[in-house]
Amino acid sequence: MQDSGRREDSRVNNVVTLAEAMRRGYIIRSNPPEDGVCEFCGKVLPPCGLVLGNEVMLWRNTKCTCEKARAEADRKAREEKAEKDRLAEEERQRELKQRIGRLLNDSGIKKRFQKRTFDNFRRDTTGRNYSYMVAKRYADNWDQHRERGDGLYIEGTNGTGKTHLAAAIAMQLIGRGVPVICKTGSDILMDIKRAFDSTDLQEYQIVDIYKRVDLLIVDDLGKEQCSDWSMSTLYSIFNDRYEDMRPTIITTNYNTDCLIEALTPHGYDNTKILAIISRLRETSTVLTMAWEDARIDAGGPR
Ligand SMILES: [Zn+2]
Repeated sequence: MQDSGRREDSRVNNVVTLAEAMRRGYIIRSNPPEDGVCEFCGKVLPPCGLVLGNEVMLWRNTKCTCEKARAEADRKAREEKAEKDRLAEEERQRELKQRIGRLLNDSGIKKRFQKRTFDNFRRDTTGRNYSYMVAKRYADNWDQHRERGDGLYIEGTNGTGKTHLAAAIAMQLIGRGVPVICKTGSDILMDIKRAFDSTDLQEYQIVDIYKRVDLLIVDDLGKEQCSDWSMSTLYSIFNDRYEDMRPTIITTNYNTDCLIEALTPHGYDNTKILAIISRLRETSTVLTMAWEDARIDAGGPR
């Protein structure tokens, strides 16, 4: 069956003019169209028939091979390709836009924070400008950071723009189609707790999302309700991301000692938390944003 199919295929390629078809005694199934004339050189172009077996199945006009006709054919082919490329690019952009919409939905970034971009970050002091540069560089060089698995560790006082910069990184990367989740530690834990009441979602499935997303931004680390469960859950997320070399960005209002204390449940040994915080810092650019609260200065949120 396959063999005869292959034989027929090779015969399909056989092309003849009407004169040849008649000379060879082929059965002609339909009348050929009129002769064509090359619009450039005036050459008469007899139509060609497609031969299958001993029958001429289909006629089509032949193309002239003169220089101008070939150039015109090339130009048309280039035009068609450009149009095809343009449509493909349009489709790609449409898909990217949809993907960005989905990513933004899944990112956990609240509406208010979606407006915090690099463009609207105030850079009026040396500290703010430097912090901007570090964060912007991180976003701009994302491919390298993803490769190396290194993150950003942003510590500092209240209202200095830590969350703004973290959200700006998230928004820039999501705009490129990179999956990012940006949530407070408390929201992450609350999200995982939902699995306790859910029949179709297991706890590990939600935890897995946080372990695997390309970039996880944990905002305001240290503000979680500190329990054995919450700490081992966060520990397991950070640790798996560290071992899989997936970048994590942290923002926290605490210095290292206070953060370790805040994350260690009362009466527990702090070894694990200490290890994970020092690993996070080791694999991250540490950025300290400590100055007067801008929300007090300017009387409004930044
Ligand atoms: Zn011609």
